[in-house]
Amino acid sequence: MSQQGYVAAPPYSQAQPGMGGYQGGFNPNPTQPHYGHYGGPPQAFNAPPPTGMMKAPVSSAAGMPPLPVSTQYNPNGQQNGAHAQRYPAPPAASAAAYGQPPQSPYNSMAPAAPPPAQQLTNQMGAMNLGNYAPGPMQSPLPPTSPMAQQPFQGPPPPAMGQQQMHPGVQSPHMSPQMSPLQSPMANMQMAGPPMAGPPMAGPPMAGPPMGGQQMGGQPMGGQQMGGQPMGGMGRPFPGPPPTGPGGFQQPGPGVAGPAGYPQQAGQFGGQMPGPQPGMPGAFPGAPGGLAGPPQKKLDPDSIPSTTQVIADDQAKQDGGVFSTNMRGQLPPLVTTDFTVQDQGNASPRFIRCTTYTLPCTQDLAKQCQVPLAAIIKPFARLPKNDTPLYVVNHGDAGPIRCNRCKAYMCPYMQFIDGGRRFQCGFCNCVNEVPANYFQHLDHMGRRVDFHERPELSLGSYEFTATLEYCKNNKPPNAPAYIFMIDVSYNNIKSGLVKLICDELKTLLDNLPREEGVESSAVKVGFVTYNKVLHFYNVKSALAQPQMMVVSDTAEMFVPLLDGFLVNYQDSKAVISNLLEQIPDMFADTNESETVFAPVIQAGVEAFKAAECSGKLFIFHSSIPTAEAPGKLKNRDDKKLVNTDKEKTLFQPQKGVYEQLSKDCVAQGCCVDLFLFPSQYVDLATLGDVPSHTGGSVYKYNNFQVEADGEHFLRDLRKDVQKSIGFDAIMRVRTSTGFRATEFFGAIHMNNTTDIEMAAVDCDKALTVELKHDDTLSEESGALIQCALLYTTISGQRRLRVHNLSLNCSNQLSELYKNCETDSLVNFFAKSAYRAILNQPLKSVREILVNQTAHMLACYRKNCASPSTAGQLILPDAMKVFPVYMNSLMKSSPLVGSTELSTDDRALHRLAVMAMGVEDTQLLLYPRLIPLHTLDVSIETLPTPVRCSEERLTDSGVFLLENGQAMFLWLGQACAPDIIQSLFNMPSLAHLQGTMCTLPEVDSPLSKRIRSIISDLLEKRPNSMKFQIVRQRDKPEMVFRQFLVEDKGLHGGASYMDFLCYVHREIRQLLT
Ligand SMILES: [Zn+2]
Repeated sequence: MSQQGYVAAPPYSQAQPGMGGYQGGFNPNPTQPHYGHYGGPPQAFNAPPPTGMMKAPVSSAAGMPPLPVSTQYNPNGQQNGAHAQRYPAPPAASAAAYGQPPQSPYNSMAPAAPPPAQQLTNQMGAMNLGNYAPGPMQSPLPPTSPMAQQPFQGPPPPAMGQQQMHPGVQSPHMSPQMSPLQSPMANMQMAGPPMAGPPMAGPPMAGPPMGGQQMGGQPMGGQQMGGQPMGGMGRPFPGPPPTGPGGFQQPGPGVAGPAGYPQQAGQFGGQMPGPQPGMPGAFPGAPGGLAGPPQKKLDPDSIPSTTQVIADDQAKQDGGVFSTNMRGQLPPLVTTDFTVQDQGNASPRFIRCTTYTLPCTQDLAKQCQVPLAAIIKPFARLPKNDTPLYVVNHGDAGPIRCNRCKAYMCPYMQFIDGGRRFQCGFCNCVNEVPANYFQHLDHMGRRVDFHERPELSLGSYEFTATLEYCKNNKPPNAPAYIFMIDVSYNNIKSGLVKLICDELKTLLDNLPREEGVESSAVKVGFVTYNKVLHFYNVKSALAQPQMMVVSDTAEMFVPLLDGFLVNYQDSKAVISNLLEQIPDMFADTNESETVFAPVIQAGVEAFKAAECSGKLFIFHSSIPTAEAPGKLKNRDDKKLVNTDKEKTLFQPQKGVYEQLSKDCVAQGCCVDLFLFPSQYVDLATLGDVPSHTGGSVYKYNNFQVEADGEHFLRDLRKDVQKSIGFDAIMRVRTSTGFRATEFFGAIHMNNTTDIEMAAVDCDKALTVELKHDDTLSEESGALIQCALLYTTISGQRRLRVHNLSLNCSNQLSELYKNCETDSLVNFFAKSAYRAILNQPLKSVREILVNQTAHMLACYRKNCASPSTAGQLILPDAMKVFPVYMNSLMKSSPLVGSTELSTDDRALHRLAVMAMGVEDTQLLLYPRLIPLHTLDVSIETLPTPVRCSEERLTDSGVFLLENGQAMFLWLGQACAPDIIQSLFNMPSLAHLQGTMCTLPEVDSPLSKRIRSIISDLLEKRPNSMKFQIVRQRDKPEMVFRQFLVEDKGLHGGASYMDFLCYVHREIRQLLT
């Protein structure tokens, strides 16, 4: 068995020892030389590698002898774990003692900013530009229209009516230009039906095919790809095409030749028939799918299984410790339980990468088309076994930084000259060590205080920020939470308003607070609204709350300052009184019209007046039609589905909302939106501000307190209590040779480098694409430092720093070996969901398929041993990549079906844009757990099975979860004793209607399953809607769409068909 891969004889065998890609990853003394290309023996990094990370010194340091470089690796985990209390208080240093005071942190530190055009060269966009413009993909809108631009993708369009949106209290009028009616989008007002049909309804297979059916008869690839691969629609990487004719077959001179065949991954050859040329429906989306005989003969167990990959990784790790002491170390999968020991690189909970070995050159990157990206979750939750981040306080002097690139002190800074200077690992600049920071070096060239200083020995830590890092050089105030409740007719009638008010009475006792502090510093405020806004004075001195009404929503202001934002504990009695009164005050309302943008504006104004950041919790039910800024019309139009204009369904209305996002970000105002619609609400527009301010959007269709109340309250509780940072700005610095070029997340960017986040919570992740701008070296590797400046929940200004070092290689096989499928899929999901704002869905899907085939074909060409053409050979680390890509293409935003609700599709898109790797993994490959095999006497859950109808059994009970929804599926022939244990009923037939909760039956099975469900609901970022479905009942269709290995209900191929199709594409590419 080769350690570098494996050869599986067909049928594909699942559990072979040594097939994983993590050799050495969890082992302090790896036997697999990850660093083989360093030329040395396998190293555990307690001895200095030969040249390591030392870079060519700049001129001032010329002639400096190379120093040992092992300082960034702590050879002994115990020391690291044991030094919790040992960080000495830093010497009280004056700024002068450290030399020049730091520059204004986020202004002058940028290397030359990339040209704006750089922003446009994301994969999807580039193809678009290269191959389609000015074809039909050009926006249907006039080129001058601001709608033709994607809000924050290119250079931001000129601010519209900025002054008008900041009227302040004095400014009398909002300019008429601000009205969305003036925007071109509004003029396109479509004559669709007033509301979307019920989501996911409709007959199962009747959905129109995905747009790709044109490709049925004329398979993709082929002509376009024969000589000049990816020259047609699918050359995801911008820039010059692969070198020469047949460039794909002929790696560029000197690069990536098939240098041996180090990886021999799974071969699925013998039984894998390629689809016949011209076979209809080979591409996902063809209506009939692949009905042909070849698939029926294939054993479904013979194709790579996600559940098996997950189980294997879990078994290998076995709950153990993952030490981050090695550069370029591939972490366990996101689905695996493990403990992290920070030994110089950030935990994979904070940063994951699509590959942990970057190709040395841009040519190699283009050749393989494997996206290079990091997915950063700066506030990721840490399980109790992981050590929380240390906070380093350098007093008034602030953190030590490189003078040139402004990178923060970290394990990659190399101390030289007896400790008097340090060389920056990012830009190579040699800096003086401030006198108060001086420390002697040991015989290995490492500072003797290495273990006492988190910033020298750890991958992640925080610095307390000095006033220079604060707005206006003033310490920030504690953040505030404002609860803004739509009290129009529907919300009163449904009982929602009362539900919210009742919940807040207890929930506000659990506002987030700093570790070890008794009460929360967060202030609270309350607004109710319909066509007008009601502000409440809840000052503690008052006997009764006071209401103030603002009816002129065109010039929103906050009518009271003192008494609006208060400390909850101080004002508890008045607030309780208010929450008691609100449902009664509006009990007789007939008002059904609402405003929306002025509600957000009011929140921003309140934060401005209080000079604080914070979060708005908006509970809203309808499309805002009342006469006010941000008024919207129904523009839902199913006729646009599967046309070039489908993208407009995802595009937000600009103008007012775009400006609001900017105002919110500038003030550190995060917007969370809880929607309770009974029809179309233009979620793409309503969700625009939340999606640029680190907020979340939740949606409860046709809300009923009995059916949905608990689901909503779980979401609300999670949201209010989650850990979060405010008024944040982040920079991703990289060592020379590559840099961050594209950013995906609930963020706002005013320039090409500063990532602004009104807030960032523990579930929000940002995906950063990395591109070469020079050659990387195998010796130096590649470094990433992510620095996040933010305000804590108690109003402290902090800097959170995450560092990660990656390997670089001239061998593509190394790149493929160190890929991470879950991260790749996160990147593809986000880049595709951004692309659909500007391109027809059909093109986006084609790009995804082409790139999948190209990445795998390049592996086959350069890294796998020769084999017969009939064999499908996948890199070990990517063997389940196709199932995820196929699932992505079947996801509601990309599927192009008129049966899907436009708002639901928009919501799905926005949610994914802010997701981390764990969440996209689960969303695209749900967990399907066979509960009928559950042993209530043991702790462990049954092993999940593949998401396919074939795995369901008539006598079975299955639990399915994907992070958004959860189902308990009951087979028709389910054993009566199971039904009795769970429902206290003799048979399935006795179950009535739709059930959204398991009754509390006093049986071991019921208790166990209810506890499993509640654990999962607790564990996921969102509360999942729970439904019980019976086999062959109508609601079962909703459940079936999550069986992602099957043909899509609304279009899209089965996994098997897709794999056959990709296999065929690969063969085409290799011919
Ligand atoms: Zn530097």
